[in-house]
Amino acid sequence: MDGPIYTPEELLTRLVAFDTTSHKSNLELIAFVEDFLLQHGVLSTRVPSEDGEKASLFATIGPAGDGGIALSGHTDVVPVDGQAWDGNPFLVREADGRLYGRGTCDMKGFLACVLACVPAFKRRRLKTPIHVVFSYDEEIGCIGVRPMVAQFGKSLPKPRFVVVGEPTSMQVVDAHKGPIRWQVDVTGRAAHSSMAHLGVNAISYATRLIAELERIEAELRVSSRSDRFEPAYATLQVTRIDGGTASNIIPVACRFGFEVRAVPGLDTDAIERRLISFANTACLPDMQRIAPEAEICIARANSVPPFGVDTASEIVALALKFAGQNSTHAVSYATEAGIFQDAGSASIVCGPGDIAQAHTANEWIASIELAKCMAFLGRLADWAES
Ligand SMILES: [Zn+2]
Repeated sequence: MDGPIYTPEELLTRLVAFDTTSHKSNLELIAFVEDFLLQHGVLSTRVPSEDGEKASLFATIGPAGDGGIALSGHTDVVPVDGQAWDGNPFLVREADGRLYGRGTCDMKGFLACVLACVPAFKRRRLKTPIHVVFSYDEEIGCIGVRPMVAQFGKSLPKPRFVVVGEPTSMQVVDAHKGPIRWQVDVTGRAAHSSMAHLGVNAISYATRLIAELERIEAELRVSSRSDRFEPAYATLQVTRIDGGTASNIIPVACRFGFEVRAVPGLDTDAIERRLISFANTACLPDMQRIAPEAEICIARANSVPPFGVDTASEIVALALKFAGQNSTHAVSYATEAGIFQDAGSASIVCGPGDIAQAHTANEWIASIELAKCMAFLGRLADWAES
């Protein structure tokens, strides 16, 4: 089947023209990709969001079934609101070897390269399947990829390897930290502040919990050391706090959020257990002596797992070979790689563009980065054919 052949630049222009800011639908872009793949004889499967407004897309070129290598990227982009753009962010503009537009770097450049390679992938006699795996809602917490990954090995083939094409300037990234977040709700009892002994001050007990978190943070600096990261340990920070009613009322409620920027392998469940244990022994008995209804609720909020692939994994050697590099890197930003890795597909992060340009006004990608990515995908296809 002879579908249309496009350069990555042409495809990038098409993809950027779909305003797929995370809070908007991505279905027009998905329909375009579906149609493009179909014109090359490639069938794809949508995994829709609950409200049906968005979808992920999964397609296989080559032999059906589990195994193979997935080329993964998110279709959503961050908002342009409040940013000073020179011109329309959704109209790709080329100047001085750069392509400007929202998502050119993060990460429609990679999607464009993958699609531009589809005709070549189809022409080859692939022994190893190449999967096209496009998600949504990555920018708001890697939400959209999860229902699709849940289908791996069920209604969708389970890839053996995954290349997440986030912008790394085509360096091979084998580890990143992940934000694990909690929300804590402390409920005490209100009282007139002249009668403080009748109340249970939710803010005071929140500060006890926060003091315990500071002790945990100090221990993490020592126990979670990994020189590959900046800073070289897992951090723990309280990120929000809200409590109290008025200046003459003992506060009945206090809510705060905290996160751990976890290094791969960190036991974050142990941190949660320790805080729960502290609440049960060092806070609740005192609180409930006065107010039996007092409680402390510690709940996980949206989190992205840290990512670390075993350096002996075949995907590391393969990615280095495809990229023409000889060493791997660790980065501080989070991607979907940990989610694939935790689901049993060995993953690597490698894609065109410099992360410094992601999310900025006048976001751009250098044309040379697209060329380097095309070369990477060409070597990947050589391997999949052999
Ligand atoms: Zn991204």
